[in-house]
Amino acid sequence: MHNMSIAELGLGLRSKTFSSRELTEHFLRRIATLNPRYNAVITVTEESALASAERSDEQLRNGAGGDLCGIPVLHKDIFCTRNVRTSCGSKMLDNFIPPYDATVVENFADAGAVMLGKTNMDEFAMGSSNETSFYGPVKNPWDITRVPGGSSGGSAAAVAARLGAAATATDTGGSIRQPAALCGVSGLKPTYGRVSRWGMIAFASSLDQAGPIAKSAEDCAILLQCMASYDPRDSTSVERAVPDYRATLNDSVAGVKIGIPKEYFSDGLDPSVEAAVMDSLAALRELGAELVDISLPNSHLSVPAYYVIAPAEASANLSRFDGVRYGHRCDNPVDLEDMYRRSRAEGFGEEVQRRILIGSYCLSAGYYDAYYRKAQQVRQLIRQDFVNAFEQVDIIMGPTCPSPAFKFGAKGDDPVAMYLEDIYTIATNLAGLPGMSVPCGLVDGNPAGIQLIGNYFDEASLLNVAHRLQQATDWHKLQPGGLD
Ligand code: GLN
Repeated sequence: MHNMSIAELGLGLRSKTFSSRELTEHFLRRIATLNPRYNAVITVTEESALASAERSDEQLRNGAGGDLCGIPVLHKDIFCTRNVRTSCGSKMLDNFIPPYDATVVENFADAGAVMLGKTNMDEFAMGSSNETSFYGPVKNPWDITRVPGGSSGGSAAAVAARLGAAATATDTGGSIRQPAALCGVSGLKPTYGRVSRWGMIAFASSLDQAGPIAKSAEDCAILLQCMASYDPRDSTSVERAVPDYRATLNDSVAGVKIGIPKEYFSDGLDPSVEAAVMDSLAALRELGAELVDISLPNSHLSVPAYYVIAPAEASANLSRFDGVRYGHRCDNPVDLEDMYRRSRAEGFGEEVQRRILIGSYCLSAGYYDAYYRKAQQVRQLIRQDFVNAFEQVDIIMGPTCPSPAFKFGAKGDDPVAMYLEDIYTIATNLAGLPGMSVPCGLVDGNPAGIQLIGNYFDEASLLNVAHRLQQATDWHKLQPGGLD
């Protein structure tokens, strides 16, 4: 059952081949036996999962329920879940039990999906390897000596190991696409504003966006359909009709113009990853797509601009964790100042503290113009590159990340090396565009991903091209060894 697509699971549920309760029990058993190896899931909500499966079975018996009714999913632990701990991978929130559900979580619940639990992640979504989680790193199911990517490494590893039918994730600079690439699964970051951020713990509010991680583009289409909604509670949520993403999945890609940015095939790219990406592009050309060489001349500025803007916003967002209202509070503070100081020093890990320091520095009087304002100007240049490119092409494609999964500790001492993991994904967040990663091959047994970048609100084209590619190739069907 765990290898079936969401559509197949839906058919199985509707034809009474199995019930949602049986399906849920099946995934709970897999989590119990396999998760100790991967550490992908940090909270299992067994009791409420079984109860909601029974409610969905009831709906299905009455002929009601949509595509996700009765389907067991996992939520990244950045989404607030009512009465269920939401830690954001941090000691700071290890004791935080939200009194409400995030809109994304609510959308899934309304659709009758079953929440199995919460997935591990880099602390406050800062990282590219899951090594910053307070709960310990997630292991990549393809090779447990390697990282799963981050920050949504728990969600990507859980889907790769088939611990749930799919998982939610978030992407501020690559955190859906990079772990999806490293774990051999499909992940989509929608256009900024497409999915509500309400109840999603904020990292960098102008960049954060939630999206699905799943086994295929078709599954991502079904999941995005549920996640995308206008939400008045999020002032950046865009009021715009949500198209039927499945309706256009099978459209022909003949004549689709795919832009290949030369800057995404630079020196740092592993030649084997490049070869895998080129094979997938050739497969799309076979299907009639046209490959067009393009340039995104300001690409080299995206990592430096991001590492000013994201920490600046993070330093402001994380100021709310002060030990007063919720989260970790130090023992026996002598005064208010001592409480702030020690609560934050004890509650936040090293990477989070580094970002808060960088961000506060960039925003401080005297440096604001030199760093923050400059980074915002660079952001406009990066956005304009894409606007120009989309006058020539329909979508843009290239590698998701420069290399396959690396070993634990390989970049731990070198924050800049870690930051370069997102060299191909970050520009998309700065511009607010949708991006997707799908598997495109194996490099020495480890998955590589190909990235698709679309125009604003054109998730449908990404899903269409990715789906056609997945019909022509089998990379998305490969699974880590040692799993049945
Ligand atoms: N790896 C990037 C960072 O550490 C992106 C993280 C993310 O997208 N949440 O900030």
